[in-house]
Amino acid sequence: AKDEGKNNYAIFKPTQNSGGLERLTLENSIRKALQQEEFVLYYQPQIKLQTGEIIGTEALVRWKHPTLGLVPPGKFIPIAEETGLIVPLGEWVLRTACRQNQIWKEKGFAPMKVSVNLSSRQFSKQNLVDTVKRILLETELDPQYLELEITESMTMNVEIAIEVLGKLKELGIQICIDDFGTGYSNLYYLKLFSIDRLKIDQSFVRDIMTDTNDADIVATIIAMAHKLGIDVIAEGVENKDQLDFLRSQNCHEVQGFYYHRPLPANEIEQLFTRTSAM
Ligand code: C2E
Ligand code: CA
Ligand code: CA
Ligand code: CA
Repeated sequence: AKDEGKNNYAIFKPTQNSGGLERLTLENSIRKALQQEEFVLYYQPQIKLQTGEIIGTEALVRWKHPTLGLVPPGKFIPIAEETGLIVPLGEWVLRTACRQNQIWKEKGFAPMKVSVNLSSRQFSKQNLVDTVKRILLETELDPQYLELEITESMTMNVEIAIEVLGKLKELGIQICIDDFGTGYSNLYYLKLFSIDRLKIDQSFVRDIMTDTNDADIVATIIAMAHKLGIDVIAEGVENKDQLDFLRSQNCHEVQGFYYHRPLPANEIEQLFTRTSAM
């Protein structure tokens, strides 16, 4: 269960040798894919450790390419970011995830959060707050069930971050810092930004059992989150040992292949039904 990509994804050639022409081709393909609605969202469950219940999902984009098959985000998000196409793509992701979450609620599943990844390009856009507001109205999703995942680097400009995050919080949505521990966060600002949740980066979780530094870092982040009154989720949990360690540190939530891989909407629904029937 180590490498999700190997079997499911076709090799996507253009990025292996990103010459100018190939980059341009890829840019044009992404633009066309947006128009032809070739992108799909997969959803990975987030589990509350104390109860084992699914308390939310993270929306992860894939490109259903007509000939190449399912292309993972690592192959096109960087180019989408460089070219600014991440803005319309990100908006599509946000709308689709909100709509799907609202559909699940209307189908009678227990309401849960959906987490959506935000790129820095989107974060620094003037109209981000308006876009989020409009999509919430459009999809009728209760704002408390939307979480945006940002990274530490987006909070580097403290004044802007305070302003944008403040406005987003006013909408009633949640904010999570993704890949936590890989950047430079001033702990003081975590409180100031009124962050709801930290997501411990999977690079620390991976070697938790063999690298005592990583184990210390994870334990420290969890303890710090407890002290600040912030939720903490660990991602990339692949085995029981990692889970037991996280449990011993009272980590609130986990996400990873040990529980579930990211799944298409119709497949993850089966889990919701089973969970509530048990
Ligand atoms: P991320 O936000 O850190 O997402 C977590 C990644 O870890 C996902 O890869 C997920 O499939 C993978 N993962 C989950 N559990 C495990 C596990 O137990 N072990 C291992 N080894 N991996 C696990 P994915 O879906 O390929 O996404 C890669 C990255 O692409 C994401 O990293 C995120 O930075 C970006 N991304 C994906 N969807 C979006 C999107 O809609 N917008 C933006 N801006 N970025 C996105
Ligand atoms: Ca994420
Ligand atoms: Ca992450
Ligand atoms: Ca990441």
